[in-house]
Amino acid sequence: MVDVTIIGGGIIGVMTAWELARRGRKVLICEKGRVAAEQSSRNWGWIRQQDRDYAELPIMMESLQIWNGLNSKLREEIGFRQRGITYLARNAEKLRAYETWLDGARAYGVDTRMLSMRETQAMLPNAAGGWVGAMTTPSDAMAEPFLAVPALARAASQDGVMIRENCAARALEITNGRLQGVITEKGHVKCDRVVVAAGAWSSLFLKPHNIQLPQLSVLSSVMQTEPVAEFFNAAAGDGRFAFRHRADGGYTLSPWEEHDFFIGPDAFRNFFAYLPTLRQEFSSTHFRLAAPQNYPDAWQTPRRWHADEKTPFENCRILNPKPSRKTLERVLALFSKAFPKIGRPKIQNSWGGMIDTMPDILPVVDHAHISGLTIATGMSGHGFGIGPGMGKVTADLVEEQKPAHALEAFALKRFKNPK
Ligand SMILES: Cc1cc2nc3c(=O)[nH]c(=O)nc-3n(C[C@H](O)[C@H](O)[C@H](O)COP(=O)(O)OP(=O)(O)OC[C@H]3O[C@@H](n4cnc5c(N)ncnc54)[C@H](O)[C@@H]3O)c2cc1C
Repeated sequence: MVDVTIIGGGIIGVMTAWELARRGRKVLICEKGRVAAEQSSRNWGWIRQQDRDYAELPIMMESLQIWNGLNSKLREEIGFRQRGITYLARNAEKLRAYETWLDGARAYGVDTRMLSMRETQAMLPNAAGGWVGAMTTPSDAMAEPFLAVPALARAASQDGVMIRENCAARALEITNGRLQGVITEKGHVKCDRVVVAAGAWSSLFLKPHNIQLPQLSVLSSVMQTEPVAEFFNAAAGDGRFAFRHRADGGYTLSPWEEHDFFIGPDAFRNFFAYLPTLRQEFSSTHFRLAAPQNYPDAWQTPRRWHADEKTPFENCRILNPKPSRKTLERVLALFSKAFPKIGRPKIQNSWGGMIDTMPDILPVVDHAHISGLTIATGMSGHGFGIGPGMGKVTADLVEEQKPAHALEAFALKRFKNPK
């Protein structure tokens, strides 16, 4: 018997569990594969306030403070560095859009400022990107995701969080609308509170319980260069590609928005909810007719199952998509053109990650109609940086305490669901 079971060992699950353990709760994380083996170790490592939805900004600002504290508290190196994030603008229209965001964000107390063309050139001397200016947030930060989240999980387990890897949650046990526990592949766990923080799998897990999340996933491709002469020690992007200095002396390079999308039953089901996003991102999306076997929205993936048989979560322990070679080749060409002195760096590694997203690019952090159930998912491509803050507000929800931040924008009821 535990007080709270958390389904999913990514940054959201880990930070929620840790927070609850610090508040004296007995917490178990069930992870179907390995801790942080999906999005939470595959991301760019940006810890970003800049250009955030205003609804997320206060949580993100608190997150940054938590990251700062964690960095000195953890006994392991996680590559946390507060060196700023910069959006480079290729035309006046983009600059204006950034200015508009900044106009609204000033009220929150961000240190973001606009850079002139000359200041942008001074930031990236010898570059040939054709940038007309930029927006920068000096207090924005970065960390090495593949180091950070496992280190956070180890720290959480030292504070009492129990973590079971290779232990998929199959279903919730519910009597008269109240949670009684979780059925896992390794047996029953008795508890009256559960957090679903299952990343790209949340909607599939919740569907048999009559909770509809219009969640989809896109494949984003990333690569890592060999160490090269340092020309910039922070993170930036220009609407076509993004680059971040790594603690090992290389750079993490990736496309800005370009991604692959596997068409499946959920894509059809949620077509109208995503239509506005689709219109905006049509040209940067490569459509594929079907997802690889066993992916959450693959055509053959069962939508319902018996809790005493193998489930889709056990058929895919780790979502490990192949990166798109073509996309990465384009990014490399753009990068070497923008930084001719660096040229084409050698690529040491490349990988893909399935980003889980919601139609309005905002997460769901809310209770559901089942008493004792909290959902914290749909981080929509920016859950790494905000993870510590989201862990805190999710813990507040679990404890039935008034969260320290407004969560209305993340309510489940913005989508059709039973009350
Ligand atoms: C390429 C890429 C770049 C990104 N860049 C950034 C960035 O720079 N900054 C930023 O802030 N964010 C970024 N993100 C987004 C960020 O990584 C995610 O928003 C965040 O990691 C989501 O965390 P999570 O805990 O919700 O999900 P995940 O990390 O995906 O974890 C969910 C976990 O749940 C487990 N699980 C699922 N179903 C079950 C089940 N039934 N039983 C048990 N376990 C289950 C999964 O195995 C998985 O480990 C990026 C993402 C990608 C892929």
